[in-house]
Amino acid sequence: MSNENASGARRGSQVLQRLRERPPALWYAGEPVKDVTTHPALRGGVQTLAHLYDLQWEHEAVMLYASPTTGHKVSRAFMMPRTHEELASISRAMKVWEDYTHGMMGRVPDYISRAMTGYAAGAPFLAEADPRFGANAVRYYEYLRENDLCLTHTLIPPQANRAASLAKQADPFLAARIKEETDAGIVIRGCRMLATLPISDEIMVFPSTVLRATEEDAPYAFGFSIPNDTPGLRFICRESVDYGRSHFDHPLGSRFEEMDAVVVFDDVFVPWESVFLYRDVARCNQAYARTGAVVHMTHQVVVKNIAKCEFMLGLASLLVNAIGAEIFQHIQEKLAELWVNLTVMKALLRAAEVDAALDEWGIMRPAWDPLDAARNLFPRLYPRMVEIIQQIGASGLVAMPTERDLQGPLAEDIKRYYQAARADAIDRIPLFRLAWDASLSAFGSRQVLYERFFFGDPVRMAGALVAGHNSQIQQYAEKVRAFVLAGRDEAFAAASRS
Ligand SMILES: Cc1cc2nc3c(=O)[nH]c(=O)nc-3n(C[C@H](O)[C@H](O)[C@H](O)COP(=O)(O)OP(=O)(O)OC[C@H]3O[C@@H](n4cnc5c(N)ncnc54)[C@H](O)[C@@H]3O)c2cc1C
Repeated sequence: MSNENASGARRGSQVLQRLRERPPALWYAGEPVKDVTTHPALRGGVQTLAHLYDLQWEHEAVMLYASPTTGHKVSRAFMMPRTHEELASISRAMKVWEDYTHGMMGRVPDYISRAMTGYAAGAPFLAEADPRFGANAVRYYEYLRENDLCLTHTLIPPQANRAASLAKQADPFLAARIKEETDAGIVIRGCRMLATLPISDEIMVFPSTVLRATEEDAPYAFGFSIPNDTPGLRFICRESVDYGRSHFDHPLGSRFEEMDAVVVFDDVFVPWESVFLYRDVARCNQAYARTGAVVHMTHQVVVKNIAKCEFMLGLASLLVNAIGAEIFQHIQEKLAELWVNLTVMKALLRAAEVDAALDEWGIMRPAWDPLDAARNLFPRLYPRMVEIIQQIGASGLVAMPTERDLQGPLAEDIKRYYQAARADAIDRIPLFRLAWDASLSAFGSRQVLYERFFFGDPVRMAGALVAGHNSQIQQYAEKVRAFVLAGRDEAFAAASRS
């Protein structure tokens, strides 16, 4: 872990070069992946990832800032904001990547960059357990910032028996746990359920943002980060939603396949310098909230939600226009619903930024309530937005030929029968293929699942919300109780008078 050769913000070519030189330990369809930059299941997402890094230089003034330690231009996603304006500048920078991916690549690198920035800001909290852990978080954050590295993360244990705690699973080493501790570091054995964007440089292995561990779970309580080519580490990829198809056939999947993988730790050695949390269940349960990491991550998520709402509204509007459906009232109602969703997300982001305040670490922390509302609301809004695309597109979503059909002997039939009211077949087909990829394909379905669950089980997130906002809820309960009691007293008073 060194900053010696670091030169700050990377370009796409450097991203590809590092992935070739230090390939993440990915397995696909039973085989190790030698080169993620050329593998048909992964190269589309990798190319997009590389392009995101070029974009930050194309939008240098918005996306980069001068490193406080080296003066190099570094990604604004690593900025520790001290003012409202700095905070707003971070969301403007994040919006550039989100606009490019239309929010369809949930794990653009700034998601974890914001998390690690939060952890470094809250390093004193980690240091309370062990001064080394706080120093490690700051040093690691600076390493990421100066080398502009990209991370995935994995938080939850495998889905074996959700009715039993980690320690009570059939196999004590099913969930990743501490196997050994030495003077040099720790050895981890077991598994973590999921890591999105394994086509990255390093992995953050942290406690869940939502699940709460108990004291018996101490061997499973830790936080560390390691390179994705660390010996013993293995990523088992799911089947790709796109296997080398064209941008015409899979307009979203061919560009934004970020991949998800199960993470296996086969006696992985983690040096102490990479450890931030260790065996401290109470601290693990509080870490995301106390450091502010969860707030900074959610800030990124709401920017993503806005880009996604904009995309779904624009897509719906084009579909409606193409088939002349704007005259129908229920279609107008659906467009209005999409617009309202977008406006609510924008309002929540604005409220979070305007009501931001300096936290105990001196960082301008976005207000949590609007972000918490957004992260609890969006898992319900997004599946409905997809449903609206299906309701508008109807059979047009499945009756779409491929690029090869268009080049084949039936091309004339296709040009004639696939026209729409306001689009000839050559314009209509790519539009409806896009709507299909957003709402029906393996890519589209995975997006729905992602939005339902990526931040945690919505049921338990709602439980955490109620617990976290209980005193506020009780204030309203008291207000209503006073109203009820006033009515009752009035009734009794009237009865006693009569
Ligand atoms: C596409 C996608 C990408 C993801 N990417 C990442 C990633 O990069 N990193 C990462 O760490 N995680 C990632 N996740 C995992 C995500 O954090 C989990 O999906 C989420 O925490 C829910 O856990 P689970 O999927 O194991 O569901 P489970 O916990 O197994 O839940 C299954 C069902 O049982 C119910 N249930 C289970 N336990 C309880 C309980 N105690 N009380 C009430 N109901 C319960 C749930 O409500 C749900 O209906 C991703 C998930 C998806 C779908």
